[in-house]
Amino acid sequence: MKVFWTYVCLLFFSNALFATEVNIYSARKEALIKPLLDRYTEQTGVEVNLVTGKADALIKRLELEGANSPADLLLTVDVGRLHRAKQLNLLAAVESQSLNEAIPEIYRDPDGFWFGLSLRSRVIVYAKKSVSSERLSTYEALADPVWKNKICVRSSSNIYNQSLVSSLVAHLGEEKTELWAKALVSNLARSPKGGDRDQIKAVSVGQCSLALVNTYYLAGMMTSKIASEVTAASKVGLFWPNQNGRGAHVNISGAGVTHSSTRKEEAMRLLEYFAGEQAQAWYAENNHEYPVRAGIAMSETLKQWGEFKSDQLALSKLGELNTSAVRLMDRAGWK
Ligand code: FE
Repeated sequence: MKVFWTYVCLLFFSNALFATEVNIYSARKEALIKPLLDRYTEQTGVEVNLVTGKADALIKRLELEGANSPADLLLTVDVGRLHRAKQLNLLAAVESQSLNEAIPEIYRDPDGFWFGLSLRSRVIVYAKKSVSSERLSTYEALADPVWKNKICVRSSSNIYNQSLVSSLVAHLGEEKTELWAKALVSNLARSPKGGDRDQIKAVSVGQCSLALVNTYYLAGMMTSKIASEVTAASKVGLFWPNQNGRGAHVNISGAGVTHSSTRKEEAMRLLEYFAGEQAQAWYAENNHEYPVRAGIAMSETLKQWGEFKSDQLALSKLGELNTSAVRLMDRAGWK
């Protein structure tokens, strides 16, 4: 009996001691994460406060706030920024068996500073009207002069492009990648501008024949409530690059516990929830991202695109190579 009451008391006090809230700095838009957080609160009673903003601004804010920062988790939509936050000593290492089991090794930091929570691939989209998919093969082949004035891509300040270029540096070396970037730039149909959706729109109206975009943007347009987006998306095809070689480039959205957090345990539990089956299924269905853990059903739109071979490079490499990628893109004249 005594043991029983000790147990009850322990349970009670441990619950009381656990923080009832967790603060997230999120570079992911509120609509793409809030419903999930509400569910978490419903299930655990833990309140989750969300501050959304651009990743760089949130990282700056963490730096300025230092040890006084109220943030417990930093969530970003690219591994490059998570790596940067780690380098700036803004994240803390956590050890979680459930995270390590749920998330393949290549999609998390080897030291436990950040964890990938969903996957996206950066693919080639093409104008169905003017391009046959048989003419496409690899990212490398986009450098071929046959595509002169035919390619649209967003700016080199965009981290998705930086990570793609980092992956090329990892596989081909810096010299070859720089030549590739120069050739790609000389194939551009217009000076880089706009976001990924704008590149899809440009392809749909024939401003360019090809573009590089993240998978969920195309899926989002295909299932959009805006008729013009659905129409634009219907005019482009998706091509999985490098399927006979290393596979298509993938990136993550992910998160890490902040260095300043006074509730690291609670923050880690929320990470575990994000990597759990329920949250992974929600991501896949609503954000059209690929689940990071195995055995989760994909959205109908993603199913249409079939299986693809993905690059097995450890994503921590993309962070490490980011600086050389950015410099190289600059030298190549990629605006
Ligand atoms: Fe995005």
